[in-house]
Amino acid sequence: MHQELEGKIQQLVELLRKSSKCVALTGAGVSTESGIPDFRGPDGTWKKYDPELSTASSFVLKPHQFWFLAMQFAGPLMRAEPNLAHQAMAELEKLGHITCVITQNIDGLHQKGGSQNVIELHGTAWRAVCINCGKKFSWQYVMDQMVPMCSPVPRCMWCGYILKPDATLFFEEIPQQLYQQCLDELNPCDLLIVVGSTLLVEPSGSFPEMIKKQGGKTAIINLEETWFDENADIVINGKASEILTKILQEIKK
Ligand code: NAD
Repeated sequence: MHQELEGKIQQLVELLRKSSKCVALTGAGVSTESGIPDFRGPDGTWKKYDPELSTASSFVLKPHQFWFLAMQFAGPLMRAEPNLAHQAMAELEKLGHITCVITQNIDGLHQKGGSQNVIELHGTAWRAVCINCGKKFSWQYVMDQMVPMCSPVPRCMWCGYILKPDATLFFEEIPQQLYQQCLDELNPCDLLIVVGSTLLVEPSGSFPEMIKKQGGKTAIINLEETWFDENADIVINGKASEILTKILQEIKK
């Protein structure tokens, strides 16, 4: 491993050792090595599809088209397995170095990889919710309706309205209770490690600034530059799986 990279990893390991409460904030980049494309990275989904298709208004206006596309993405997402980055983060939690993972991802891979304290800020792809009565349904329920019956949209068992994935679409608000859970984890928090996120989506895009204002440290692990890099205490550009595995190895020494 490159000497400069080794040095930065050592710095982050030191920060982790000293930290009394470290929170990890993850984005789509933590799951690309599990075969789930991110949105804005080099092979991101927005290079092939119009982002407009996953807005709340697009869902309301064209739910058939929305579900048609959702089903294309669902297969790979449901079959995905946690990668070394998810596993290293779970291990860091077990060892007491990470208190909580706040994830923008909807794939459930942190929990599958063994993390216990996970806040899914943008919800989950593993459930659907009725847009009328709010009842929740498992992904299996959605599949049972869509696949054998060839239904264009899944519908609520109770009121017959259309179901929506239980995930936040663009221009939809984050539930206040979930946001409050994040604030409770972040205050106090003396180290925030961001993994695989452009930090362009709010409210999580503002979390590093919040920690900095509280006097905490911030570290970024990402393939590419992010807008927050110049304000971060440590920036490590590389693959999440390789960097986090190395951090885990070092911290165990
Ligand atoms: P983003 O697409 O804006 O950014 C991902 C970042 O991760 C990019 O900067 C990219 O360079 C980096 N990256 C890609 N692979 C990496 C790797 N192996 N190691 C390190 N960095 C890597 O993602 P975002 O900031 O999370 O925001 C996009 C929104 O998309 C979020 O709201 C999220 O809910 C949603 N999303 C989720 C999934 C998922 O659940 N897996 C997938 C796509 C999008």
